[in-house]
Amino acid sequence: MDAGAASNLAAIRDRIARAQARFGPPPAAVTLVAVSKTFPAEAIEPFLAAGQRVFGENRVQEAKDKWPGLRQLYPDIELHLIGPLQTNKAREAVALFDVIETVDREKLASILAAEMARAGRILPCFVQVNIGLEEQKAGIAPAETVAFVELCRSVHGLDIVGLMCIPPDGVPPGPYFAHLATLGRAAGVAQLSMGMSGDFEIGIAMGATHVRVGSALFGHRPPVATGF
Ligand SMILES: *Cc1c(COP(=O)(O)O)cnc(C)c1O
Repeated sequence: MDAGAASNLAAIRDRIARAQARFGPPPAAVTLVAVSKTFPAEAIEPFLAAGQRVFGENRVQEAKDKWPGLRQLYPDIELHLIGPLQTNKAREAVALFDVIETVDREKLASILAAEMARAGRILPCFVQVNIGLEEQKAGIAPAETVAFVELCRSVHGLDIVGLMCIPPDGVPPGPYFAHLATLGRAAGVAQLSMGMSGDFEIGIAMGATHVRVGSALFGHRPPVATGF
């Protein structure tokens, strides 16, 4: 298990480095977010032992069950929320996570801001964009993204650092990633979270600063509703 985690991690880091060398951005500018959803703490620990520190989870309750114990062993963990957030879980999310990647509506922006003020904890946030305008996916419509980022910043005081998207299945993701990059420039954010196990090199080619890689690191997940 240990050797498997270390070699999977090395292989993905190598693919990220080679994609960066081919397409930019400059080396060290792409952060690997290791998506550990559905995997138990025992499966995550070998990745921590191998040096990985940035992880993504999509459910508040699952993160609460797994991460406080791991943080005691590795205090420098950076945990990203990459799944939809209900406003009644915002308080727990602010306590458990270090980065929120899924700000997708004004009510959530407002409640997150209030919870961060209450906790004295300012978390960097990404706005999730429904880049393919798919009914089943969360996110702000592309045409509303620039105004929403501005609203999050000026009205709610959130620290919006980037945009995040999950492109439609079954079609080439490149144009969607390019669109997100264009929206990011227009909104004045520096970071782009785009690319998963099947397409992170394309994300990097289009300017990703964060790639969210799960199954290519941890192996196959049992099929569950992920709340995309
Ligand atoms: C599960 C998940 C991922 C990782 O997907 P893989 O295909 O396993 O790499 C990335 N982003 C989000 C939002 C996810 O829910």
